[in-house]
Amino acid sequence: MVPVGAPAAARFSPEAQPEQRPELLVVGLGPAGASAAAAAASKGCRVLAVERRGCVGEPVQCAEFVSSAFSIEGFSWEGIATQRIVRMVTAVQAAQSRVSEDFRGRMICRSAFDQALARRAAADGARILLGVAVREVHADGGVRLSNGALIRPRALVGADGPRSRVGAVIGRSNLQLVAARQFTVGLLHPYEATDIFLSPAYPGGYAWLFPKGSAANLGVGVEFHLRDRLKPLLRDLHTRLAADARVQASPPSSMTGGLIPVGGRLRAIGALGAVPVLLAGDAAGLTHPVTGAGIEAAVYSGTLAGNAVASWLAGHGNALHEYESDLSDLYDPAYRRALLRRRELRGGLGREAATAEALWRGWIASPEYWSDAAAGTADRCQVRAGAA
Ligand SMILES: Cc1cc2nc3c(=O)[nH]c(=O)nc-3n(C[C@H](O)[C@H](O)[C@H](O)COP(=O)(O)OP(=O)(O)OC[C@H]3O[C@@H](n4cnc5c(N)ncnc54)[C@H](O)[C@@H]3O)c2cc1C
Repeated sequence: MVPVGAPAAARFSPEAQPEQRPELLVVGLGPAGASAAAAAASKGCRVLAVERRGCVGEPVQCAEFVSSAFSIEGFSWEGIATQRIVRMVTAVQAAQSRVSEDFRGRMICRSAFDQALARRAAADGARILLGVAVREVHADGGVRLSNGALIRPRALVGADGPRSRVGAVIGRSNLQLVAARQFTVGLLHPYEATDIFLSPAYPGGYAWLFPKGSAANLGVGVEFHLRDRLKPLLRDLHTRLAADARVQASPPSSMTGGLIPVGGRLRAIGALGAVPVLLAGDAAGLTHPVTGAGIEAAVYSGTLAGNAVASWLAGHGNALHEYESDLSDLYDPAYRRALLRRRELRGGLGREAATAEALWRGWIASPEYWSDAAAGTADRCQVRAGAA
């Protein structure tokens, strides 16, 4: 088992020729990268995966909710799932909360989850370097690492998150981002629902309370250019919920945050010279444009990307295009609807604050969210599987 909690840069030496010419280089060891590495390595590919952090999954930048529909073949949730979620409660401004009974899921310990996926990739034979970043990606597919090594892979998977360096080199960047800030607070009563707070005070985003045992993740997301508002907004939410005797007023812990792509899926395949490049997870814009959920899509797309590379290496020239069309089939219908809803809300935001009615209509728990025939109807299960 690879010690994914410890830096491992020293295990790489410039003389280690096979690693410098891996069949697949995976950049980033979040859920997408670890899944890509595991899928390709389990099919016998020589895989090198590099992660700039010294410890996989830390610090956590996530609200840690996944839907009950999310499953990974042969994966044990023991020690990872922290509590079940049985419903969603949506509060629109000061109006009465609405309860949706069919939004089930689980809270996970995200760092343990990411580390388990990385261990699985290592057990499948992927070579993992922690504390090593990709510094440059060259037009011929060569990749310069922060330890000075030049890697010449046959294929490259960019699973390096919302601001993907690999994606930028092939001209794919997430242009619409939500900035989020979150901390953990003590819960005053046991709770089994995800709470969503919609308000014109959170343009392009929302606030949340996701319980995990005796504590809860409390967070706010807004459009990237408004990120300076996050700190007071989160503080105000905390004060309000403490006054309502929902959470402890004592200082929060585990302050975190991050960026969430909300502009929809990017084309996920490209090339640098003779080296095919596949994007997976956030790097491919695979987060739901309304909820921001992306863990499941990261795992699914990473697995598909790893399989596609293995298939391409085995001589199936069409495998990369099939990757692109698989992603389109899986995500485009749901994301199309979400983008439509998002656009409707943003249209109002430039001129006047969104009304409570409009905010509710744009949220996945409202029947109106699903009522627009233009976006199709077959996406309902899809989005629910990815709802946060
Ligand atoms: C505050 C917040 C709350 C969220 N809550 C939820 C939730 O409750 N449920 C949900 O489903 N989704 C949630 N998301 C979204 C979810 O976290 C992401 O969709 C998911 O992490 C995507 O996985 P990934 O592997 O694509 O990218 P990441 O998890 O971002 O992993 C990318 C990895 O690449 C590494 N990397 C980046 N650049 C380089 C480089 N140059 N060299 C080497 N390594 C590099 C990074 O260090 C990182 O480890 C949340 C996001 C945020 C910001």
